[in-house]
Amino acid sequence: MNSTRIYLDNSATTPLRAEVAAAMHDSLESANYNPSSLHAEGRRARTALEDARERAAAVLGAARNEIIFTSGGTESDNLAILGALAAAPPGAHMVTSAIEHHAVLATAEQLRARGIETTVLPVGSDGMAATADLADALRPSTILASIMYANNEVGTIQPIAELAAIATARKVLFHSDAVQAPSWLPIDVRGLGVDMLSLSAHKFGGPKGIGLLYLRRGAPLASVLHGGGQEFARRPGTQNVAGAVGLAVALELAARERAEASARVAALRGRLETEIIVKIPDARINAHGAPRIPSISSVSFAGTESAALLIALDLAGVAASAGSACTSGALEASHVLGAMGLEERWQRGAIRFSLGRTTTPAEIDRLLDVLPAIVAAQRRPFEKDLAGDG
Ligand code: PLP
Repeated sequence: MNSTRIYLDNSATTPLRAEVAAAMHDSLESANYNPSSLHAEGRRARTALEDARERAAAVLGAARNEIIFTSGGTESDNLAILGALAAAPPGAHMVTSAIEHHAVLATAEQLRARGIETTVLPVGSDGMAATADLADALRPSTILASIMYANNEVGTIQPIAELAAIATARKVLFHSDAVQAPSWLPIDVRGLGVDMLSLSAHKFGGPKGIGLLYLRRGAPLASVLHGGGQEFARRPGTQNVAGAVGLAVALELAARERAEASARVAALRGRLETEIIVKIPDARINAHGAPRIPSISSVSFAGTESAALLIALDLAGVAASAGSACTSGALEASHVLGAMGLEERWQRGAIRFSLGRTTTPAEIDRLLDVLPAIVAAQRRPFEKDLAGDG
């Protein structure tokens, strides 16, 4: 990337790490065969795949046969939810939260058309779900609860171990979308007590198109794709061996560097947020008081429009985003900020800066140099409107 650019969109995707690219390159050269083939070439691919599975499992505290490789976070979330409810009769129930990624919310919506009932837990103005709300929502017909570990728009960390314990005590399967977590939070699947957990490699320095679903041994899950028997018959299709190798290397690096990277990035974000509040009037940090992963800063500037701010930032060399809901290049109102009950003026001017392991103090300084003028320039037309002369 152009070194004068400042990349603050690491929640959308992270740069591929050099160590990961090197491992994938080796794998593509030596093991780009079908791991189901019985010949020597196939066995070489199988060895690479199973080594990657073993390594990913070790980081998560899982057994190797509890790791199902998928194409990414969206597929892992879909598999967890659709697979858990595949045999459920109409009237069966699931619980999720209002701040989930669309990969979870749209899947729950899809099931509703099949007669599956869904309770969407609210969050407070701090972006946190309440454990008591989950306990209240569970019914005898509840099959699954799906609540994310770290939110991708505001960064809030949900109390997964407590939520999973509530579900498990009622014999309800518990899934967590942990796509935003690996660089910043420990993920010990036994300690968390989850039955299923989704990851996506490109969110932590790995390649796109590969993810995994942790599936606790014995937890019931049907495949949603039909074909061969790969991935313990839960995800048929010839595996992406180099992708799995890249995922494993990236996950190990993320785990090894987590404590140091978290402390460093938390300090940078702290300075960014403090200075924004000092330098820019009518700004607010969303979910400020809640436990948050250190990388995400959701900031609202009253009297601005986030799309215009993003364009101005981009022209100034800063890549940021308005939140997650930007899949087709068009901005929609954020369902996360809406669920937090933010007033419209704060929702309209919301920007997500997401820092990464390579973000430097100098980059934050440069952002802080340009941001006040960008916000002020965006506010001018609105001020004119308000004064009635625009
Ligand atoms: N879940 C969360 C919390 C995410 O942030 C994302 C990506 O934005 C996804 C799921 C989807 O992951 P993928 O892009 O690998 O399909």
